Amino acid sequence: MSEIPPQGLRWLPAIDKLLRTPQAEELIRVYGRESLRDALRESLDAARDQIRAGTPAPDASSLLAAAETRLRSQFAPTLRPVINATGVILHTNLGRAPLSAQAQAAIVTAAAHYSTLEYQLEPGKRGKRDQHAESLLKLITGAAGALVVNNNAAAVTLILAALAKDQQVLISRGQLVEIGGGFRMPDVMHQSGAIMVEVGTTNKTRLEDFARAITPQSALILRVHTSNFKQIGFTEQPELAKLTALAHERALVAADDLGSGALLDTAAFGLDHEPTVQESLQAGCDLVAFSGDKLLGGPQAGIVVGRADLIEKLKRHPLARAFRIDKLSLAGLTATLDHYRRGEALSHIPIWQMISAPAKVLQQRAVAWQSQVGGQVVQSFSTVGGGSLPGESLPTYALSLRSDSAESLSAALRRAPMPVISRIAEDQVLLDPRTVLLDQESTLVEMLRLVLG
Ligand SMILES: *Cc1c(COP(=O)(O)O)cnc(C)c1O
Repeated sequence: MSEIPPQGLRWLPAIDKLLRTPQAEELIRVYGRESLRDALRESLDAARDQIRAGTPAPDASSLLAAAETRLRSQFAPTLRPVINATGVILHTNLGRAPLSAQAQAAIVTAAAHYSTLEYQLEPGKRGKRDQHAESLLKLITGAAGALVVNNNAAAVTLILAALAKDQQVLISRGQLVEIGGGFRMPDVMHQSGAIMVEVGTTNKTRLEDFARAITPQSALILRVHTSNFKQIGFTEQPELAKLTALAHERALVAADDLGSGALLDTAAFGLDHEPTVQESLQAGCDLVAFSGDKLLGGPQAGIVVGRADLIEKLKRHPLARAFRIDKLSLAGLTATLDHYRRGEALSHIPIWQMISAPAKVLQQRAVAWQSQVGGQVVQSFSTVGGGSLPGESLPTYALSLRSDSAESLSAALRRAPMPVISRIAEDQVLLDPRTVLLDQESTLVEMLRLVLG
């Protein structure tokens, strides 16, 4: 059965005619002719459906307006800045560590210009990408060798692939962690070609368990910091120094996946002590791998420090090229490391400013927001996040906003022109000053005014 098309369909203008209107000219300038043509086609299809359903035919102007709405949402960037008011300092979903002013500037400079990325000015010859962060890392950690790749997952994979392919890697059953995003230690071992040998039990692994598990096929003992969960109760792990001594006695490599890789002591700020890179080296680890964008406070990167001969092996492995860090991250990382060399990490690196912010100062900031938008200042807790220091928190003061529905208020905050990400606790929307960058504070207040009306 063929239907007779409704009258209105004939009144729809042709795309080419719409494209010649002054209104279209402006849209072509902003979005390009092809995109506008596609958007108009979609708008015309939608209009045809509506006409069949009995709606009168839209005019040219409203068809173009509909196309513009489509284009605006299609062209809206998906990677947008937000205000992190959650109180989670290393929020992985929000991009982990915001960078220091110096690291930001270094990235902009490296992005805008040619650089000595792999060039030595003095002989005027090819240089090495490795030269930049490496010397700083050696200086700061005291390690003999250093290597930087694109993230810690890559660093661990590279260690296993370069030093233990087709050989046994011993790891405690209590450390077969999943980091998140599907990074699971057994899978990483498998991908790297190493043969995983599980040692001990979930809760208890002793030095003797390792000693017994070593065979002529063993190449490496891997310690993995259980960075994102906590084992309490009847638990045991061998002391790191004893484990590395055992490895060396039996001619194995002792490697440590530290995860966060703190260079400063978190215990100074009322948190648990997060194991530091320096401690792992002192305990005799041949290689220590950690992230650039966790407690180091830099851009995404994976760092390996340790024995120079082993680092050389890693550099020569084909995966090193696949895993190499890009020049922008390298510039940001080098500038971040420079803060540690100068002993100014606490005062210059945003995540350390956040970790060390006194509750009193946070209270003052929350009170200042309250005086502008209302609400209540309440005591609360911030966390470090980023898979570090699980269960640990820092006392803070937050601005609490009451509403009929905390869910819908927090959703409205997310929809603000500068999205505000909040935390909900006990049916209240909480805004924690600890993670709100100072240069976003006035915008935050503006957004709160807008949303609260
Ligand atoms: C976070 C983490 C990783 C992964 O580091 P990325 O830099 O995110 O790739 C690996 N191991 C441990 C123990 C971690 O905590």
